[in-house]
Amino acid sequence: MSKKIDRREFVRVSVGAGAAAAAMASSGQAFGRAPGVRAQSVRPVVISDRSGAAFRNGGRLTCIELAFEGVTNGEDVLDAILAGINIVELDPEESGVGFGGTPNADGVVQLDSCCMHGPRKQAGGVAAIEGVRTPSLVAKAVMEHTDHHLLVGAGAQDFARNMGFTVEDDLNTPRTRERWLEWKRRLDPEHYLDPERRARHGYDVALGMLAEGLADESHFWGTVNCDAIGPNGDICGVTSTSGLSWKIPGRTGDSPILGAGLYVDGGVGACGSTGRGEANLYNLTSYLIVEKMREGMHPKDAGLAGLQRIKENTIERRLLKANGDPAFNIRFFALNARGEYAGVSMYAAGETFYGVCTENGAEEAALEPLLDGTPSD
Ligand code: ASP
Repeated sequence: MSKKIDRREFVRVSVGAGAAAAAMASSGQAFGRAPGVRAQSVRPVVISDRSGAAFRNGGRLTCIELAFEGVTNGEDVLDAILAGINIVELDPEESGVGFGGTPNADGVVQLDSCCMHGPRKQAGGVAAIEGVRTPSLVAKAVMEHTDHHLLVGAGAQDFARNMGFTVEDDLNTPRTRERWLEWKRRLDPEHYLDPERRARHGYDVALGMLAEGLADESHFWGTVNCDAIGPNGDICGVTSTSGLSWKIPGRTGDSPILGAGLYVDGGVGACGSTGRGEANLYNLTSYLIVEKMREGMHPKDAGLAGLQRIKENTIERRLLKANGDPAFNIRFFALNARGEYAGVSMYAAGETFYGVCTENGAEEAALEPLLDGTPSD
């Protein structure tokens, strides 16, 4: 059902969306209007990272296809996205999200997620939650049933249990357990000299396993982000992840943090991210990109501006290549209230496309890179 579109075709699709947007702008439905004021009629679109367009958990539809179906059937946009995200979270083959996500350094799967409801201006998130396969639904429960935006660790798990979620002892699968064991085997205890060296050594060992093909990049930094606009202009987004593979227990990345892993302004647009969470946390880049869209930038230009900010703020040598560019990848998926969208990445490396679902069906569109080369060349 998915088909790949090349960059030229993608530009054509985007230009088409732009023409529709221009028509809407002239009819007074331009974005940039006062927050909370919604467009009356928009071409619905759902976008996601690669996993939202790839995993089906044995079913018929991917995340973006199910979300698009829900959005066009009049479901609440956030509920439609969550139904799609749940496919990815529950699929044991996706080892960067939910059940079968990659565990932390102690072998425990700890999950992060957040969601934002544009029109209702509500948000919720959980971080480092254990034992619940669908952290995105716990994030939604935080949004709907508490006065708070973020619950973490044991408190998040207790909350989930009290809300009726099934809490399991272990979300590992045989595959994630085996990979964790291999990672652990390669860590020589004699090298645990001080916490900094130990952390650095663990990271290097993990990168070595990536280079040897024992783990793939998309699961070392594996996350699902899905954002959508419905026919009435409602905009919502969800991000869910098991975070960095074999992370220090308790390490929380960008995914559950509003403004970093996800940001939605119902009157402007949505943006979510995958990749090196620390770079995103430092810059609150999803928020920045939504603000750039508020100023009138197309999602692609806003996304590239966000990546540029990350590049400028990355100055530690350990994070840089020999040429001074960042030695990591990070991606953003953005859509605005006109229904225009884009996916951008620091490099065209690893996952080089993202998912889009419109009335034309699901497509894979090329991510627009900021820089030439790869994170490691
Ligand atoms: N951004 C996520 C994190 O840092 C990981 C990823 O997207 O792969 O936790």
